Parts: sequence; C-alpha cells; structure tokens
Amino acid sequence: MDNQDKVQKFDVMVIGGGIAGEEAALNLAKMGFKIILVEKDYSIGGKMVHLSKVFPTLDCSACITTPKMSETTREPNITIKTYSEIKEIEKSGNHFIGKIIKKPRFVDEDTCTGCQLCEDVCPVSVDDQYQYDLVGRKAIYIPFAIALPKVAAIDLDNCILCGACEKVCPANSIDFTEKPEEILFEVTSVLIATGFNLFDAGKKVEYGYGRYKNVIHAMQMERQLVPTRPFNTVLRPKDGKSPDNIAYVLCTGSRDKSVGNPICSQICCMYSIKQAQLLMGALPMADVTIYYIDIRAYGKGFQEFYQQTKDMDVEFVKGKIAKIEEKEDGNLELFYEDIENGGKVKTAEHDMVVLAVGLLPNNEIASVFKDEELELDPFNYIKQKDKLINPALTSIDGVFVAGTAASPMDIPDTILSAGAASAEVAGYIRSLK
Ligand SMILES: Cc1cc2nc3c(=O)[nH]c(=O)nc-3n(C[C@H](O)[C@H](O)[C@H](O)COP(=O)(O)OP(=O)(O)OC[C@H]3O[C@@H](n4cnc5c(N)ncnc54)[C@H](O)[C@@H]3O)c2cc1C
Repeated sequence: MDNQDKVQKFDVMVIGGGIAGEEAALNLAKMGFKIILVEKDYSIGGKMVHLSKVFPTLDCSACITTPKMSETTREPNITIKTYSEIKEIEKSGNHFIGKIIKKPRFVDEDTCTGCQLCEDVCPVSVDDQYQYDLVGRKAIYIPFAIALPKVAAIDLDNCILCGACEKVCPANSIDFTEKPEEILFEVTSVLIATGFNLFDAGKKVEYGYGRYKNVIHAMQMERQLVPTRPFNTVLRPKDGKSPDNIAYVLCTGSRDKSVGNPICSQICCMYSIKQAQLLMGALPMADVTIYYIDIRAYGKGFQEFYQQTKDMDVEFVKGKIAKIEEKEDGNLELFYEDIENGGKVKTAEHDMVVLAVGLLPNNEIASVFKDEELELDPFNYIKQKDKLINPALTSIDGVFVAGTAASPMDIPDTILSAGAASAEVAGYIRSLK
C-alpha cells in the first residue's frame, strides 16, 4: 500500500460496536493493546441499547449497556470510528492492511454539543429507524437519546436543504460540504463482532405485517416497553387504543424452511416471556396469549422465569399460526392448529399481535476480505473453524469472531463469547512476537 506515512497502526481492529464488540475491545485495551473499533451506525451500542429490560432478571437494558458504551469511548487505548465502512482488508505478512471510509454526517463531530436545537427547527419528518418506525424523526437528528457519540447527523435523502438548522446551530457545526474520509490502516489481528439482522416480518406474508397496523414485531414492542418509550404507554398503532388482548406468535422467521431460516433463534421464547411479564406491569388489565411450537427455556433461571409468567396468568397455547386476518375494527383473527387438542384448526380474536421475529446472519463483512476467503457456515453465519474446541477462530488465521456474528445467542452468552475471543486474539498477537 502506498501512503505509508498516512497508515494508522493498531494491534487489533474490532468490527462492530454492539455489546460483543465493546466487551472485546475493552478486554483487549485493558491488556494494553491498541484497538480501532469500527461501527457502521452513527452510535455504538448495537441492539442491546434499544431493548427494554433483559430476561431473566428484568434489569434495565440501557442501564447496563450505557456505562459500557461510555467506558468504551473514554478508554485511551480504543479509537472509535462510527458511521464508517470497511472497504477492504488483505493480509500483508503478519499484518492486515486495508481501507475504511468514514462517511459524512454533515455535522462536525468535534463541535456539535448535541443540543438538538437543529431538530426543533427542521421542517421534515420521516419514520425513525431507531424507534422501529413507530414514530417520526427529523431530517437532522440525534440518532437516539443515549447515542454515543451524541452528535447530530443529516439524512441527506430527506433533507430539503432549507438551511434552518444552519441558522440556529450555536456551534456552527453544520457543514453540507463534508466529504467521505478515507482511512488506511494496518493491524495485527481482526475481531468480527458485527451481530445479527432481524428477520423481516413482512416476509411472512400470511401474518400481515405491513398490511395490518396492529401486527407489530418484537423490537417494536421492546420500544413500547422502554422507560423512554415513544408513547407513554403501550398502544395499538392503528387507532392509539390501549390493547387488552395481546397475542405473541413465536418462531416468526425461525425454524421455518419456507423463509430460508431452519434454525432456532434461541432468544425469542425468552424475550416474548419477558415482554409478557412487562406487559402485565404496563397494562394490568390486559390478557396475553403466547402461541408456541416448543418453549425453549434452557438457561439458568429461565424455567423458573417461564413458570412465574404462567403463574401471572399469561396463557400459553401450543399451536402453529397458519394465517392472520384483520377485522373491520382493526382486531385480528388468528387461525391456528391447536396441537394439544387433536390438532384441530381453531380461530381466536386478539386486538394486537406481536411477531416474535428471529435472528438472521449478518455476513456482509465476508466480502471485504480480498485475498483469503472468510468462510460461512451452512446457516450463513461466520464459520467457527472449530465450534467445540475453539469457537472464536475463523477460516482466516488472525481473524476471530464474537457474539451473534457467529450464531444466535443471548446477551450473557455474547459477553462470554467476547471474553473468549479477546483471550484468543491476545494469545495470537503474543505468539507472533
Ligand atoms: C426483540 C429482542 C429482544 C431481546 N431481548 C433480550 C433479552 O432480554 N436478554 C438477552 O440476553 N438478549 C436479548 N436479545 C438478544 C440481544 O439483542 C443479543 O444477544 C445482542 O444484541 C447481541 O450482541 P452483538 O454485539 O453480538 O450484536 P448486535 O447487537 O447486533 O451489534 C452488532 C453491531 O455491529 C455493527 N455492525 C454490523 N455490521 C457492521 C459492519 N459491516 N461494519 C461495522 N459495524 C457493523 C452494528 O451496527 C451493531 O452496532 C434480544 C433480541 C431481540 C431481537
């Protein structure tokens, strides 16, 4: 690579700033390694920062993850590049070299104070992706209240270039001329922590997501249950009524060859049970029914959590949902096979349905490795070279994987996996000296 003087050198590149990436970066930084953490989103935090509470302890998710996020940003051995994309990585001797593109936010990261005055004057409103489209946001916006860095960004696709934000910004941070920045890097090891994608609920056409407004997916329910929820309570999106008979449809997009995802997502039973408990608190008069194929409560304290939920009168029906139809009043009719009662096809009416969407692999990072192939497993997750003996190793020597980039898993397992991967990375780097 030319421009040797411009190459930024680190010991490890961590790709992805979710809980796996943060945990691994912090572990390695504390061992004295210099880390570059590359996150494609505006903020670090991954999915965990958007969750309500976590099973089975019902601890507040943001309360656990925000201290970790701020520790990551304050750690002197960690350099963070948000809103950045890795373009290429190739092996050069004992190192990996490559290129990152830091995309323009059109707001100066160093001077923006996060005051949000720009949001107040922006006349454009579009769906807010961080609230999973339940409410709107402006064309210039702070991604979410606890984003790190807490810096605004302009969504140029929707901006009408009226200049209102520029006039009101007290720090003169708006810069419509900002260009993508190219960063050349050299690192000794790479740790992939790029997480998972959420199953697109619209692909299960027979469940009506996208057509019936009162059919929502589990991340939308997480957002309705967080303390900073967009509405002050849980509401049906169609008419703003408070639901009193909510159904959960488990295995939406998991264990389902018809949508190309035959495996169990491991977390949906437990997050649905968790949400049912939280709903009992938010809407004490509401009925909650969970339609399931099997309940997989396999972790420590999970079975007790499930039993507790049954004791709270959440109804569990062993039945596969065939289709959902909307009635005139916005209520939903569920057609299901009642497995425990002779497999009869039955119907049930609910006023809101939550689809317990599964996890899908996010393997886009494989395409940036230029000279050696980063192999995928049969389910399209990053292949763990030896899943039993050494789950952090990938098909490329010096490249490691942690968290849900390798397989569906919950937060405690993700943290364990990040711990194991960081120990492997440290061992690998030391073995080269
Ligand atoms: C509805 C729902 C509820 C849940 N509730 C619970 C719960 O109560 N308890 C529990 O234990 N678990 C729960 N989970 C699971 C939990 O969300 C995951 O275990 C956890 O988020 C995995 O963390 P991760 O870091 O592996 O992945 P992610 O959280 O997906 O983070 C990956 C990060 O990598 C970034 N990234 C992706 N691709 C790239 C790239 N190419 N370059 C740079 N950066 C990239 C992403 O932007 C993201 O910031 C729930 C999941 C869902 C869907």
